[in-house]
Amino acid sequence: MRSMYFIIALILFQTHLPDGFSQANDSLLIRRIYTEALSKPVAYHNLDYLCNKIGGRLCGSSQAEKAVQWTQKVLNGMGLDTVYLQPVMVGHWERGEKETGRVVSVKAGNHNLNICAIGGSVPTPAQGLSAGIVEVKNFEDLKILGREKIEGNVVFFNREADPTPIYTFNSYGGSVDQRARGAMHAARYGAVAVIVRSATPAHDNYPHTGNQHYADSVKAIPAFCVSTNDADSLSEWLKSDPKLNVFLQASCILYPDTISYNVIGEIRGSVHPEEIIAVGGHLDSWDIGQGAHDDGAGVVQTIEVLRLFKALNFRPKHTIRVVAFMDEEYGQRGAKVYADESKRLAETGKQKHIAAIEADRGGSSPQGFSIDASDEEMKIVSSWKELFKPYEIWFFEKGGSGVDIRELKSQGALLIALVTDSQRYFDYHHSANDTFDKVNVRELELGAAAMAGLVSLIDRTW
Ligand SMILES: [Zn+2]
Repeated sequence: MRSMYFIIALILFQTHLPDGFSQANDSLLIRRIYTEALSKPVAYHNLDYLCNKIGGRLCGSSQAEKAVQWTQKVLNGMGLDTVYLQPVMVGHWERGEKETGRVVSVKAGNHNLNICAIGGSVPTPAQGLSAGIVEVKNFEDLKILGREKIEGNVVFFNREADPTPIYTFNSYGGSVDQRARGAMHAARYGAVAVIVRSATPAHDNYPHTGNQHYADSVKAIPAFCVSTNDADSLSEWLKSDPKLNVFLQASCILYPDTISYNVIGEIRGSVHPEEIIAVGGHLDSWDIGQGAHDDGAGVVQTIEVLRLFKALNFRPKHTIRVVAFMDEEYGQRGAKVYADESKRLAETGKQKHIAAIEADRGGSSPQGFSIDASDEEMKIVSSWKELFKPYEIWFFEKGGSGVDIRELKSQGALLIALVTDSQRYFDYHHSANDTFDKVNVRELELGAAAMAGLVSLIDRTW
């Protein structure tokens, strides 16, 4: 009986914790999270496996399938309450043989180009294609040149990514339209193919691929990206010989859609099991690198959030769920299936997301969080700044979250993106340079710890 009084007293005490008391507890828990993450870098070892043993994993590929099985195995080994696969139909495109791009000119010389097909591109004719080149900076230029100057030629989109924004995602965002819709626009004027300057402020020899969209109403033409260094050279060669020819060859194949999966694991909530705090990254990547920063890092970091809680015996009130999303790069169908299913469960009152955190901005040093929330919610989250100061987490700003979780907004979920140092991200992004050795063990683990700390605070407060 006495122990019963003690438990009641404890419950009363805990529900009326003075602010100072809970803050001290919070800071202690966060310290323990960081200590565990930095002393046992499990996320880093997982990333090593994902990158070096499985490698690039474009949706629909056998590597993506391997990555699904491996992630499920890792989650199964963590003593979680639930681990399951959520089926997703995905596109299946393969680039085929390594692409060829060659400048042929008596005046400017013959030069090989560092190119690769843009995701989803149709192939060139089997024997390749040869044509002249028309250089443009934007879609407006196409209009000015018109069909007369463009028809039968390759359009070369060569607008540089602006190097001046401090946050490099803004630089990327300002240039990526050429890659995403260049082929579609150029085809309207009779272009036979496009070559697009890689969407990165970096000056390097890597072509940086990505996705693109054709329009049903226009002919699909082959689309290539070229390294930024070769884009600069090509522009120079064109000045010395505007009539130079380019030879392009690609053997891409589009297969029928195939089945794949989002991989999900949970620690069930002790008080509100039906209320979900989700953390996630995307398991698929482009095929030409290892998908280390994009987004193996986010996957292993968000798995690490759950591992940290298990290791510290942290019993959350709400269900903490990790989602390794499939198909973020190609068609974002994993996000769609996840959002549709969770919307259905929310409408029947079975389940509700109270928060979701996406890690898809690379595995470099974490700086804070971009938060899609109401002013009221922002006030609460911002009040946690002090707790994160010792860990060099300082960025708490209103902003976008990420493509894999944004649809959860309709459930009133607090949406958050882990913000990391972006300076080198586009050196790697969507290129053969996105490999495991570019990720730093401490930076990666710090990102996982920052998210785990944030999740613990949301769990206590919401
Ligand atoms: Zn990504």
